[in-house]
Amino acid sequence: MNIGSHTFDEFVSIVKSFHGHAAPGVLIGGIMVDMALKNLPEGKFFDAVCETTKCLPDAIQLLTPNTIGNGWLKILNFGRYALSLYEKHNGAGVRVFLDPKKLEDWPEIKAWFFKLKPKIEQDSQLLQDQIREAGTRPFTIQGIQLKPEFITKKSRGSIVVCPMCLEAYPINDGAICRACQGEDPYVEHEVY
Ligand SMILES: [Zn+2]
Repeated sequence: MNIGSHTFDEFVSIVKSFHGHAAPGVLIGGIMVDMALKNLPEGKFFDAVCETTKCLPDAIQLLTPNTIGNGWLKILNFGRYALSLYEKHNGAGVRVFLDPKKLEDWPEIKAWFFKLKPKIEQDSQLLQDQIREAGTRPFTIQGIQLKPEFITKKSRGSIVVCPMCLEAYPINDGAICRACQGEDPYVEHEVY
């Protein structure tokens, strides 16, 4: 089985160096991205939506030109193991998800996905073998059409200085920046 232009084993080492270890979620994600790309016209670029923050964004960034930083990958924190690739102007594309109905033949994948075993009891080699063996079978692919409001880029307006923190932010976020509106994650920050 190939993942993009890589063999499965090559992809395992790429994941190790990028993600820190050969995380099953990124390996599975690689198969999902490959499956989506094979169902789209070749030689074109697509925008991506990822429906979980875990592992799957890394597979998308490794196998497509889409990164969080370039804005071609949007992450929605639904906690669903699913991704979509779509044509950025008309919003038509495909969605691939790890299908709970299709996991009965792959007990180790099922145990990992539903967190049925403590991590310490997971047999990571067996899990990796099942991922390789299962290939595209645990996934379902759908044709999708994005909502128009999702395709059009919303401008956040001009950049102004927040009267509270004195840092720059987009004016459309309000009279003060979102951090000062209470979304700031810090207990305190001290200037060095
Ligand atoms: Zn502020």
